[in-house]
Amino acid sequence: MIIKDIKILDEDFKVREHMNVLVEDGKFQSITKGMPDPEGREVIDGSGKFMMPAFYNTHCHVPMTLLRGYGEGLPLQRWLQERIFPFEARFSPQYKYWGAKLGALELMKSGCVSITDMYFDLVDYGRALFEAGMKANLSNGIVSFDDSASYFEDRSYQDTINLMQWIRDNESENDGRIKADASVHSEYANREKALREVFEFAADEGLIVHAHVSETKSEHEECKSRHGLSPTAYFEKLGAFRSPVIAAHCVWLEEEDIDIMISNGAFMSHNPSSNLKLGSGIAPLKKYFDRGMNITIGTDGASSNNNLNMLEEVNLAAMLCRGQSMDANAISAADIIKAATRGGALAQGRIDCGLIKEGFRADFILFDMDREHLTPDYDTLANVLFSAQSSDICMTVCDGEIICKDGEALFIDEEETIAKAEESFKKVLESL
Ligand SMILES: [Zn+2]
Repeated sequence: MIIKDIKILDEDFKVREHMNVLVEDGKFQSITKGMPDPEGREVIDGSGKFMMPAFYNTHCHVPMTLLRGYGEGLPLQRWLQERIFPFEARFSPQYKYWGAKLGALELMKSGCVSITDMYFDLVDYGRALFEAGMKANLSNGIVSFDDSASYFEDRSYQDTINLMQWIRDNESENDGRIKADASVHSEYANREKALREVFEFAADEGLIVHAHVSETKSEHEECKSRHGLSPTAYFEKLGAFRSPVIAAHCVWLEEEDIDIMISNGAFMSHNPSSNLKLGSGIAPLKKYFDRGMNITIGTDGASSNNNLNMLEEVNLAAMLCRGQSMDANAISAADIIKAATRGGALAQGRIDCGLIKEGFRADFILFDMDREHLTPDYDTLANVLFSAQSSDICMTVCDGEIICKDGEALFIDEEETIAKAEESFKKVLESL
């Protein structure tokens, strides 16, 4: 397809007007002022539209859409014990499939094509994302409260192995879209032996490590009293940083933690909605950015956000950063958008994604700029960051394939998905 005469965010995150973009074989073939030969190609009129890279959400628990609003207002331990754990014990793979499909709808409508996700029954719910036309880095974060528990005997290991097998079995069709990561839920939900084993497994298999890190102040401090080290330093001691790392939340990192993250090229996933809603605090984004840490953005799950709207998350990240640092120019609009796009793609190990660039995989979104709240379109990035709504996203494209157009998913039966999700939720409740 050719997107003709369109305003784009180029590979240097500069806005360029009147460009013609040729997408073929899943990639950006050419991005030029001149018009490519339209013969035999679909031509999309780009006037009044803005093309930018799609979002890469770097921390999510997508099947938890079905736990949206379930257990509001409870303190963490009661929320887990009385609500989440009993629900999850009855949360079948098939229900997770529908939860993930419901999440895929929200994600693609807010411009996201790829998620880093931690949950369980990876093949079952990964299939929902795959069918939706999306990409995902999936992992099952181990929880181990027994000193002698081995990762290699844990269901999280078997779940990961099953996913790796599925990826091998579907290699050509999958084409790198669904990937397996290694994952530990967190320091506080694990014992040392299992953590060491996961990190060793990740290093041996060349997998990314995904974990919750310093989400709350109490978790951070309790780790220090248990181990004499912060969660980041403890994970470093156990070998986590031999692999690429995505550390979710990072609200309470100290100077030495920042040093560890930077020296290892690790990525932090900023999850501002979840941190605010659960009263965890606000990650000092400007400090991390100024120090040179790799910043990415994630929604977290719908049980703590309560939606999966990446555009809203990016907006909130920018607003909070400015308010917190009392600086109207703390991290530019381009840099925040870059964190949510190219930054996320790199964190997911997708090096040929996240830029509108020739030869890159064509993951992009189109905004319809002919809207009252986007007029005048004087500063396009400010419009996207501070004025736009996800309903302004009129097209979401993953690997050159349109997966959502004018607010409708092309590979998901929306009516069926909403009905099945509602029904799955009710069935779990009835079984409790
Ligand atoms: Zn999380």
